[in-house]
Amino acid sequence: MVPRRLYAAGLLLAAALPAFASDLLGPAELAHAQRLREAASRSALAYELVASLTTEVGPRPAGSAGDARAVAWAVERLTTLGFANVRAEPVPMKAWQRGPAHAHITQPFPQPVMMAALGNSVATPPEGLHAEIAYYPDLAALRADAGGERARGRIVFIDEKTERTRDGAGYGKAVAARSIGAIEAARRGALAVAIRSIGTDRDRLPHTGAMRYDPAVPAIPAVAVSVPDAELIARLAAHPMSASRPLKMHLTLQAEGGVPVTTHNVIAEVPGTDLADEVVLIGAHLDSWDLGTGAIDDGAGVGIVVAAAKAILDGGVKPRRTIRVVLFANEENGFDGALAYAERYKNQPHQLVGESDFGAGPVWRLRSRVRPEALPVWQQIGAALAPLGIAAADNNGSPGPDAGVLLRRRGWPAIELTQDGNDYFDWHHTANDTLDKIDPKALPQNTAAWAVAAWLAAQSPVRFGPLPPPPAPPAVLAPAAPASAGIITR
Ligand SMILES: [Zn+2]
Repeated sequence: MVPRRLYAAGLLLAAALPAFASDLLGPAELAHAQRLREAASRSALAYELVASLTTEVGPRPAGSAGDARAVAWAVERLTTLGFANVRAEPVPMKAWQRGPAHAHITQPFPQPVMMAALGNSVATPPEGLHAEIAYYPDLAALRADAGGERARGRIVFIDEKTERTRDGAGYGKAVAARSIGAIEAARRGALAVAIRSIGTDRDRLPHTGAMRYDPAVPAIPAVAVSVPDAELIARLAAHPMSASRPLKMHLTLQAEGGVPVTTHNVIAEVPGTDLADEVVLIGAHLDSWDLGTGAIDDGAGVGIVVAAAKAILDGGVKPRRTIRVVLFANEENGFDGALAYAERYKNQPHQLVGESDFGAGPVWRLRSRVRPEALPVWQQIGAALAPLGIAAADNNGSPGPDAGVLLRRRGWPAIELTQDGNDYFDWHHTANDTLDKIDPKALPQNTAAWAVAAWLAAQSPVRFGPLPPPPAPPAVLAPAAPASAGIITR
């Protein structure tokens, strides 16, 4: 089961392990993992939770009244389910609130545009902005426009396309247009920026999401238009009639940012036994965007990790390490919850961190980010997940947005259970993120995967950290990447 080559590599450093520890999980641990897998595969709890959250709480943008209701909902549900040490830990943050917004093309002739403000956007003047559109096919084209004369005094439009991929790589490539498009446009003197939604659908619905400013350049309003509207703008910009009647748009939006509020991370535990101080963290984020009800992002993840921990709680065997469910605050618009957690628990050893935040599709791949000496145990974890249709892959895993903050800040070992995200970006951050997009039959497989992985991580005779220092990136790649390129909200 364990390839000799990897097993031997583990033995090379066996001196670093306690002399009494075997370096593999024993048959009792693996047999219990199988029982958990079978029980969790029959659990309807994940769907029940996401249905409850989206029906009884609804949208919950960080710092809003809905967010506060979500915190109360989570504390109540986790307590009722029987977890230990249920608590809401304060997270100070600055809230952003959307107001009414409207856009329409005024020239060559009037056309309505389906759009939404991006998170953190400043407002337009009350009477709105009316200006010519400067069309750029993507963010790279805008960045390549060094002088920026075309952008000055105009509304910059960035037509960045999002490629449909199973693992979300297409989103990763496109999302910089949303997060830093306003900075690049303002550097060139633009009045506002509009982007093609970072999404893969053909619906006439905009995809919102976080953006940010650079204090060195003016903060300009930033919006996303639906994909069909983006394609209309592209056709009009290229049309011969634009030569005599330039493409113009009127844009009004209201928004309020920088409001100091306190939100909360919600935490629950299955306490460990002999290694109780060490934590296996399985997380999701409790906040959502405001346009839908936050079903796939990330009500599904909340349901999955809570149901997985509940399967372990009900499994009748206490874990060695503490299994901690963390429902993070404000993933969407600033990672305040993950940053607060990283600070509060910086001195507590973490065996593993992971997050379910990629919708409700089935898990198809396991990736780790652990020290090489732990890989024989990960071969065992991979074998325990194989009956769920999950393939073990490499040791370069990326554990989700909040857990990714913890990985980068603290160097805690990480797990990635990759879900099928082919349709995720059809609905992500839109009014279409609602419960009907979730197949109730897809969630138990996720629940089982997290239960098995968390259980075996908690029982491992081998610590998964510390991680070896990451290799320095090739210098030639460094300048192209923004400083925070590694942080991608989902
Ligand atoms: Zn998310």
